[in-house]
Amino acid sequence: MAAALRRHLTAKARAGIRVIPKDRPRESNPVAPALSESSLLITGDPAVYESKTLDELRAAIGDCRRCKLWSGRTHLVFGVGNPSARVMFVGEGPGRDEDLQGVPFVGRAGQLLTDIITKGMGLKREDVYIANVVKCRPPENRNPEPDEVESCEPFLKKQVDLVRPKIIVALGKFAVQCLLQSKQPITRLRGQWHEYQGIKLMPTFHPAYLLRNPGDKKLVWEDIKKVIEALKSA
Ligand code: SF4
Repeated sequence: MAAALRRHLTAKARAGIRVIPKDRPRESNPVAPALSESSLLITGDPAVYESKTLDELRAAIGDCRRCKLWSGRTHLVFGVGNPSARVMFVGEGPGRDEDLQGVPFVGRAGQLLTDIITKGMGLKREDVYIANVVKCRPPENRNPEPDEVESCEPFLKKQVDLVRPKIIVALGKFAVQCLLQSKQPITRLRGQWHEYQGIKLMPTFHPAYLLRNPGDKKLVWEDIKKVIEALKSA
């Protein structure tokens, strides 16, 4: 049955047809298996579902054109870091510098994130894993649209499944609301523990926001201290 389904989906994927179940569950705080059969349906590509390593996943994503963001990108920004990281940072999507370099969180906001990791947490950037909800830069850095998130989030879910971090730190309003399927403001969500795919998730402000609002760095430090404390017993 599963093999027949995969053959059917592969044929559709090769024909450029995306299959999206009408009743795809979108639960808040899902604690479901990392990439379910429904994610296979969304990507339409069994190679994504069956990837055993991050390299295999990146190869399966290939020169992705599953949503309209592909047309404006210089590089698809997959993710970087330790494939067995205990902490994973997730942002919204690549900005200009990230698009040009193909690496998440470079540029000024990226430097601030690096400072949080190195000076705040006492880790190296290579110790953690860093990725975004969408892998291609939205034009003019607008928020990703629902169909773009729908197309790309299965890749993030699979990354989380492969890395299996102890803690996810979600950066910024968009990533937080997207991962938690919540409309609540980040000011209410940050600083509290949540869950994504069965993994503890700490929402906090985006480094780019901190560049504009340096007075809120102390709030991020409060959130990061909770992460450091939780890692001791994780
Ligand atoms: S944003 Fe994601 S789904 Fe859209 S083209 Fe890029 S990799 Fe593919």
